[in-house]
Amino acid sequence: MSEFVNWHNETMMKKAQQALEAHNFLVELCENSDDAREKALKQLDKESSIGIGGSMTVHEIGLFEHLKDNGYNLINPYVPDLTREQVFELRRKTLMSDFFLAGCNAITLEGEIVNVDGYGNRVSAIIFGPRKVFLFAGMNKIVLDRQQALDRIFDIAAPINAKRLNRKTPCAATGICSDCDSPERICKHLTVNMRQNIPDRIKIFLIKENLGF
Ligand code: SF4
Repeated sequence: MSEFVNWHNETMMKKAQQALEAHNFLVELCENSDDAREKALKQLDKESSIGIGGSMTVHEIGLFEHLKDNGYNLINPYVPDLTREQVFELRRKTLMSDFFLAGCNAITLEGEIVNVDGYGNRVSAIIFGPRKVFLFAGMNKIVLDRQQALDRIFDIAAPINAKRLNRKTPCAATGICSDCDSPERICKHLTVNMRQNIPDRIKIFLIKENLGF
């Protein structure tokens, strides 16, 4: 990475940190995936329940694998071959977990977190329920404001996710959102976390890499 790109990345991350902290979100700036994983592991323990929300980033930084392979008390609705009822039950349990781990779609330099969900379990848990919420985001998730957050979600994140999930949506064929009425539409709940009441409840691990979509 050139020193100028590095300068810009660090400047954006610090600006995002400042804005988020002004809104009662905690922020850990992380040099890379390893740094983020180790910082998170220092704050997790094997007795507490740890709910997993949708996140490619939690996988990409190796955190999910580490927790799964080392005896942590995971509530994981993403185990293959679960029935629909089992998935729903586990998602309901994540809403009462001690820690909830997830990714986010966009973080604005105005200090807000913007997400689109299908079922809404991820955004629900971020808003209320779990005692602590850890959100993991590569710096590619940083945008200027809400409008740019929506642009990044519908231009990039959602079409890629629809393709990944093999949904029969227009965007999974064309790569472009058409605000569809497809029964398989993945964009059903749009949330903006503007502030946090409980000062140490939501922590964002902002990572100086491009991660997730
Ligand atoms: S609204 Fe429909 S077309 Fe647009 S990104 Fe979501 S699933 Fe794709």
